Amino acid sequence: MKIYICADIEGTAGVVSPQQCAAGNSEYERARLLMTEEVNAAIAGAADAGADDIVVNDAHGSMINLLPEHLDPRARVIQGKPKPFNMFAGLSDGTDAILCTGFHAPAGDFGVLAHTTSSMAFRAVELDGARMSEAALYGAYAGERGIPVAMISGDDICAARCAEWFPHAERVTTKYALGNRTAESLHPVVARALIRAATAQAVKRARDIPPLRLETPQDLVLDMTSAALADLVATIPVAERLAPTRVRLPVTSAADAVRWVNVAAAMAASLH
Ligand SMILES: [Zn+2]
Repeated sequence: MKIYICADIEGTAGVVSPQQCAAGNSEYERARLLMTEEVNAAIAGAADAGADDIVVNDAHGSMINLLPEHLDPRARVIQGKPKPFNMFAGLSDGTDAILCTGFHAPAGDFGVLAHTTSSMAFRAVELDGARMSEAALYGAYAGERGIPVAMISGDDICAARCAEWFPHAERVTTKYALGNRTAESLHPVVARALIRAATAQAVKRARDIPPLRLETPQDLVLDMTSAALADLVATIPVAERLAPTRVRLPVTSAADAVRWVNVAAAMAASLH
C-alpha cells in the first residue's frame, strides 16, 4: 500500500508557541524533534498495517524541519520549497491514503496556533462561504484526485473541525487548547502511541474512507490581515475586491484554490 504523510508542526504534542515553530532558536530545535517523532509514529502505524511505500512531505514554513537522520528509514522524505501544491507536493497517483500529523485549526478560529497557510497574510480563507482549514483545502484537492485523508492529528479544535470535513477519518487529539498559545498537552510518548494506533486503523480502513469531494468550487475569498495586503492581492488580474480586506478569486477546482492561496501568501510575504 502506498501512503503519503503530510507533516506540519503546530499540532504536535508539546508545541504551543510561535517560537517553537520558527527556526533560529533552541525551542524550535526541540519542537522539530517532537514533530519528527510524531511522523515516525505515523510511519510505524502505516507499516504495522502493511504499507510498503511511504512518502513524507515536510509541510511547515521553510519545509526543512524534519530531521532526516532521525526519520524511520522505511519512509522517503520530501523537503524544501517552493514546490507545486505545497503541503501535498509530490502526491502521486495510486496513493491509497493521506495521513496528516501536527495539524491545527483554521485561520480565524479557536485552537492552538490556528491559521491557514499564513497567519501573517490571512484572517480567514473561505471557499464557497466555508471557512477552510489547511486540512479541508488540501483534502479537497486530494479528493479531486480520488485520494482520501484517512488520519489527522492535532489539537482538540482541529479534531472537532476535521470531524465535519472528514467524518470517516481517524482523528487523534494530541493536546487540548486553552487559548491560541496555550494547551494542556498529552505527553509526547502518549500522543505518539495514539498516532501509531490510529494510523494503523486508518491504513487498514483506507479503501472504505471516501475522498472529500466539493461540489464545483467557485468562490475563493481571502480575508487579508490588512487593507494593504488586500491592495496587493487585488492586483491579480482575475481578482475582485469585495471589501477593504476581502478579495475574491474565481476558481473551478480545489486545486486552483490551493494554488491561489499559495500565490497570495507568497505575495503577502513580499510586503513585510
Ligand atoms: Zn505549520
